[in-house]
Amino acid sequence: MIKDSPFDAAAPVLVPMPAERPYTYAVPPGMRVVPGSIVRVPLGPRQVAGIVWDGTVEAVEARKLRPIEHVFDCPPIPEPMRRFVDWVSQYTLSPPGMVARMLLRAPEAFDPEPWIEGLQRTAAEPDRITAARARVLDIAEGGLAWTRSGLAHAAGVSSTVIDGLKAQGVFEQVMIPPRPVVAAPDPGYATPALMPDQQAAADTLRAGMEKGTFGVTLLDGVTGSGKTEVYFEAVAAALEQGRQVLILLPEIALTHAFLERFQDRFGTKPGEWHSDLPPRMREKVWRQAAEGSLKVVAGARSALFLPFRDLGLIVVDEEHDPAYKQEDRVFYNARDMAVVRGHIGNFPVVLASATPSVESRVNADQGRYRRAVLSARFAEAALPALRTVDMRRAPPARGGFLSPVLIGAIRQTLEKQEQALLFLNRRGYAPLTLCRVCGHRFGCPVCSAWLVEHRFRGQLVCHHCGHSEKRPEACPECGTFDHLVACGPGVERIAEEVVEHFPDARTIVLSSDMLGGVRRLRLELEAIANGEADIVIGTQLVAKGHNFPNMTLVGVVDADLGLANGDPRAAERTFQLLSQVTGRAGRTGKKSSGLLQTFQPDHPVMQAIVSGNAETFYEREIAERERAALPPFGRLSGIIVSAASRAEAEGHARALRRAAPEAADIFVLGPAEAPLALIAGRHRFRLLIHGQRRADMQGFVRAMLAAGPKVRGSVRIQVDIDPQSF
Ligand code: ADP
Ligand code: ZN
Repeated sequence: MIKDSPFDAAAPVLVPMPAERPYTYAVPPGMRVVPGSIVRVPLGPRQVAGIVWDGTVEAVEARKLRPIEHVFDCPPIPEPMRRFVDWVSQYTLSPPGMVARMLLRAPEAFDPEPWIEGLQRTAAEPDRITAARARVLDIAEGGLAWTRSGLAHAAGVSSTVIDGLKAQGVFEQVMIPPRPVVAAPDPGYATPALMPDQQAAADTLRAGMEKGTFGVTLLDGVTGSGKTEVYFEAVAAALEQGRQVLILLPEIALTHAFLERFQDRFGTKPGEWHSDLPPRMREKVWRQAAEGSLKVVAGARSALFLPFRDLGLIVVDEEHDPAYKQEDRVFYNARDMAVVRGHIGNFPVVLASATPSVESRVNADQGRYRRAVLSARFAEAALPALRTVDMRRAPPARGGFLSPVLIGAIRQTLEKQEQALLFLNRRGYAPLTLCRVCGHRFGCPVCSAWLVEHRFRGQLVCHHCGHSEKRPEACPECGTFDHLVACGPGVERIAEEVVEHFPDARTIVLSSDMLGGVRRLRLELEAIANGEADIVIGTQLVAKGHNFPNMTLVGVVDADLGLANGDPRAAERTFQLLSQVTGRAGRTGKKSSGLLQTFQPDHPVMQAIVSGNAETFYEREIAERERAALPPFGRLSGIIVSAASRAEAEGHARALRRAAPEAADIFVLGPAEAPLALIAGRHRFRLLIHGQRRADMQGFVRAMLAAGPKVRGSVRIQVDIDPQSF
C-alpha cells in the first residue's frame, strides 16, 4: 500500500550493496515487473542494476519512494536462484545484496545481444563471373547469412567485390541473430567403452539422473582412474533430458585440457566462466546461460552464481580443493554451496576427487551421500611406486636441497628419456633473507611476514600484500656489503640446483607468479605434455589434474612443508596435495616412481602415501576429528577483527567477545592475534567459535555481532563460517 502516491504499486528490489534487505521502489504505471526481473533503479546519486525480489513491501510514504527507471529485456532470475541467494546470505551472514552482487557481474548482458547486419544469397545471378566473384558465390552456397567483412575474409577478396554483388541483387541485407558461444553438445557424439568399475560408477550416476531429484554422489577414484569419463555420463544424461549442466573446476590453468576432453566426448566445447575470460565472452555466457541456450558451463567457483534457466546437474571436480573457498567479501565454499544449490533446485550433484575432503567422506560413510569408487588406474597405467627419503640419514650436499637418492633417480629418468617433476610448494628463490653480520631479517613493512626473494626478478616480495622492493646489496641495518644470505629453498633455487647437476637437461619452472600469466602457463603445460621439457620444477599449480604422459618420476622436495603450521587440517591437506602430486607420475603404461624427502618418514601422512593405504589415513583422521568435535563433527566459525592500530583491533575484539550470548553448546576462544597478525598495515585479531554439530552457529554469531560494539573508525569485521584453517 502506498500512501498519497501517483503510483499504484511498489516492489522490493535487491541492490548490489551491503544492504540487509531489498529496498522499496515504485513501479510506474504501465511498467511490468515480476520477481526476478532485472531493473535499473536510482540509489543515492547513482543508478544501479538490481533484482526485483519476492515478498511484499512495507507501507511507505510516497515522497520517499523513487521509481524503477527501467526493466531490462532479460529472462527473470529464476526462483531457485533467488532462494539460493537468500540461503547463501543466511548461511554466510553476508548481506543478501552482496550475494546478489555476485550474480549481477555481467552488466552488459542484461540487454539482449544485438543482431548484426548480414548478407544472404538471393536467387539472382551476377552479370558476369570473375574468379573473385566465383569464390564468393562458392562460399555463400550453403544459404547461411554472412557479415560483409566475414564473407570477404572467407573468400579472400576485398569488400568491394561483395558490394558489387550486392548492388546487382545477388545478396540482400538481413539481420543475423547473435551467435551461440558454443554449438549444442551432443550426448551421443563419442561414447567411450567404459571399464567395468567405471561402468558401475556411471550406472550409479545415471540412476541418480533418471530419478532427477536431489542427491549427492561422491565419485571417489584414485588419480588416473578415469573419473572424468564417468561423470561425463551424468552430463550426457542431463543433456538427454534437455537440462543445463555446471561443471566446477578449481583451477583455470586446468580448464584448457578439460575443454578439449569435453569436446572429444560431446563434439563441442562447453561455455567457460572464470575471471580471466574477456568481458564480451563473459556477457555472452551469462546471457545464454540465463536464456537456457547454453547447455554446459565449465567454470571457477563464481560460476555457481550464473542465472541458469534450468540447471539439472552440478559436478564439482577435485571437490577437496581449497581453491573452492572464497575468502573475500562473501566467504563461502563453492563445494558446499553447490550441494545447497542442488537441494534447492532439486537435482543431482556429483563430487569427484581422488582424495575426498574428510567432510565428504563422513557424509558418504553416514549415508547422506552415495559413494561410487574407482580403485584402479585406467587401462595399463599403474600407480607410481612411492617411498620416503629420510633426510636425517641421506642429507643433501652442503648448500643443496636435493638428496643424493633423488638426484640419482632424476639421472636414471633422464637416461630413459622420460620426464621428472620436482615439487615444492613455495614460490620464489628463498623464503627468508638475512644478514650474516648483524642478523637482520628482511620483513614486510606492513605485514607480519618475511619477504621472499625472487631472484629472476631481483626483488624481495611479500606474498601477502604484494609489497616488493629491489634486493639490496648492502644490509640496511649494519651497512655491510655482500653478506646477505638466502635461507631455505623456493622453486627458483631448486631450479638453480638442478641446472648445476643436469646442465644439459631442459628445465621448466612453473609457479603462479610466472610472467606472462595464464596464457604462458597454458603454453608451458602443453610443452611439458608434448615432451618438450625434461625436468619440471613447480608449486601446487603442477600438482593438480594434468596429464603428462611421459612423466615417470615425481620428487617432493619438502614433504613436511604443510605439516608444520599447527592447523588441524594440515594432515588432510598434506595428504591430498602429496597424493595429487605423486599422481602426476605414470599416467601411461610406463613404470614410475615417487620420492618424498622428509624428516618424518613415520608420520601417518607419509605412511599413508607410501603404502597407498588411504583408508587407514581417513579412519584415523576421522576418529581424531570426532574426538575433538572438529568439523564435520562440530562446527567452527572465525571472526577476524582488523583495524589500523593494534589497540583498536584488540579492544574491539575483546568487547565483541564480552557480547557473546550464553549457549550450552557453543563457546568462544580468543581473541588472539590472527595467524597473520598484520596484513597490509592492518592489525588482526581472531575469535574462534566452536560449536557442537547441531548448534545454531549463525544465530549465535548474529546475536554476538548485534550485541557487540558498533563498528566504527578503521575497524572491519570479517565473518568466516566453516573456515578452511583453524
Ligand atoms: P582422473 O580424473 O580419475 O584422474 P582421468 O579421467 O583423467 O582420470 O583419466 C585418466 C586417463 O584415462 C585419461 O587420459 C582418459 O582419457 C583415459 N580414460 C579414462 N577412461 C577411459 C575410457 N573408458 N576409455 C578410454 N580412455 C579412458
Ligand atoms: Zn606485506
